[in-house]
Amino acid sequence: MKPTALVAGNWKMNGLASSQAELEALANLLKEGGTADCDVLICPPFTLVAAFAAASAAGIAIGAQDCHTAKNGAHTGDISAEMLKDAGATYVIVGHSERRADHGESNDLVKAKAEAVHAEGLKAIVCVGETEAERDAGRTLDVVLGQVANSLPAAATPSNTIVAYEPVWAIGTGRTPTTDDVAEVHTAIREALNERFGAAGEGFAILYGGSVKPSNAHELMAAANVNGALVGGASLKATDFNGIIDAYRN
Ligand code: PEP
Repeated sequence: MKPTALVAGNWKMNGLASSQAELEALANLLKEGGTADCDVLICPPFTLVAAFAAASAAGIAIGAQDCHTAKNGAHTGDISAEMLKDAGATYVIVGHSERRADHGESNDLVKAKAEAVHAEGLKAIVCVGETEAERDAGRTLDVVLGQVANSLPAAATPSNTIVAYEPVWAIGTGRTPTTDDVAEVHTAIREALNERFGAAGEGFAILYGGSVKPSNAHELMAAANVNGALVGGASLKATDFNGIIDAYRN
């Protein structure tokens, strides 16, 4: 089974109620631009998930950027996958490198979050990626494949899980790996998925993330085993995000 490509926007801690105009602008650009051979997702901050899901035109899915492992309970300030589903989210990003770094999230915790996402029937986007020091030490594949092995639940399937490879040093820096480097890591992830999940391994979408922009999207999306993008900064402007989606238009 060939993966369905996904272009996903991670708004991080950006966006106010007035930002709904940007979602509407994106819907208009998608209408004008014609069909793209990919799914389109916006993950705004928690405060906007319900409003965006209510307003979102067909063709733009709405997701969240994190969740707790529990369904509910005494976890002040946290949000559960059940609440996100209730608000209209269909995807949840887990294990973003900013959460791994800022909140000390381990592979075990990321896996438990992905399981919580699956328990609600939502799709988990599981992020992996090496730091610059790890790349310089020649440890990229070790680190990334270790994260894939230990962050993905045993029950992961191509319908409930997307893997996002995001080199930490490429996030928000304007720097990207070469397409050969991207292809090498994505192909290694594909082989690991095939080994673990058998024939289903071919069906998982593997996104590239890290300074994707309209000017480099075509090249990056053409690399072997790249099935879409996870986009931070360039997802905040509808015109830029639509320019990345162009990589999936004929
Ligand atoms: C991200 O944080 O997921 C990301 C890829 O950010 P940026 O596109 O800004 O590098």
